[in-house]
Amino acid sequence: MVRWGLIGASTIGREWMVPAIGAQPDATVAGVASSSPERARRYADELGIPKAYASVTDLLAESEIEAVYISTTNEWHEPQALAAFAAGKHVLCEKPLALSLDGARRMVAAAAAAGVVFGTNHHLRNAATHRKMRELIETGAIGRPMAARVFHAVYLPPHLQGWRIDRPEAGGGVVLDITVHDADTLRFSLGDEIAEVTAMTANQGMGQSGLEDAVMGVMRFRGGVIAQFHDAFTAPHAYTGFEVHGTEGSLYGRDVMTQRPMGTVSIRREGREEDVSVDHENLYERSVRCFNAAIRGEGEPAATGADGVRSLAVALAVREAAETGRTIRVTVD
Ligand code: NDP
Repeated sequence: MVRWGLIGASTIGREWMVPAIGAQPDATVAGVASSSPERARRYADELGIPKAYASVTDLLAESEIEAVYISTTNEWHEPQALAAFAAGKHVLCEKPLALSLDGARRMVAAAAAAGVVFGTNHHLRNAATHRKMRELIETGAIGRPMAARVFHAVYLPPHLQGWRIDRPEAGGGVVLDITVHDADTLRFSLGDEIAEVTAMTANQGMGQSGLEDAVMGVMRFRGGVIAQFHDAFTAPHAYTGFEVHGTEGSLYGRDVMTQRPMGTVSIRREGREEDVSVDHENLYERSVRCFNAAIRGEGEPAATGADGVRSLAVALAVREAAETGRTIRVTVD
């Protein structure tokens, strides 16, 4: 039984991750820590978590806790993960891993030095839709991929219109929130690395303190694929989607850039479009299942710490491209 500790009394924990851990036959949420002991207590009571710790230090000192899930605001991920690694805990951390590339690299190095499992909670690569699209690309169903399009413009719901839109120091803004997911999904689906990016950001009335709430851009992969992306907090009526266009066919994922196990995949080739069958599964349950297996020595987390470094590198390059008006090379190693 993997006993999980939560660092962060967060919405994602409440809505998705506590139920996802609870759904595993071999895992349980043992406790929660917050920067406010009262909030931790209320959160524990609300979600039926046995213990609320007075501090993160107290949670990390608990020998029974083997793994921690970090879902605080983004500026806390790095220091809290480093403290968890120092305490010998396995860490599943929310994206973006850190606010700087060096910070994310330090996390990967510390996990390796501690000999623990380190994952990034990029949920979309756990979606049956994206996994199916990756499989079809890998097996040559659309020939050689040439271009991709990511439609990830959504409306940030009122209960999340907090630090994401008004706290740059907490890692707010749509690029660190959503573009990181695009980068991971594209890398995962195409099996290639992003070499350079160009982008423009906008403020469409939601972002404050200089934070962008919409972005469009283009990424070029090492192998030559070009990918266009549109991410926003400000689009109440847009559907989401993910398309890959190859020499022999095109793949269409509709309503697939989402937390929910939904959406459709179709393939269009030789003048016909066919639906592809997909066995939907809760994305977060799969993420936790893979992480627990990795703790047992079976495989890796669905997205590793190294994957989190790469998605962050792309997001930071997108921001720099928008700020400078230049094409920015993505350098990780
Ligand atoms: P929330 O704003 O719900 O929670 C973030 C932190 O805010 C909490 O850890 C908590 O701090 C603090 N907080 C919560 N409620 C209050 C309050 N009433 N007053 C003051 N502070 C409060 O963030 P999200 O759950 O939306 O996001 C958390 C992390 O998860 C982010 O890194 C985000 O990028 C990531 N995320 C990932 C998703 C995915 O699918 N992979 C989806 C959504 C978010 P404390 O813990 O100290 O109490």
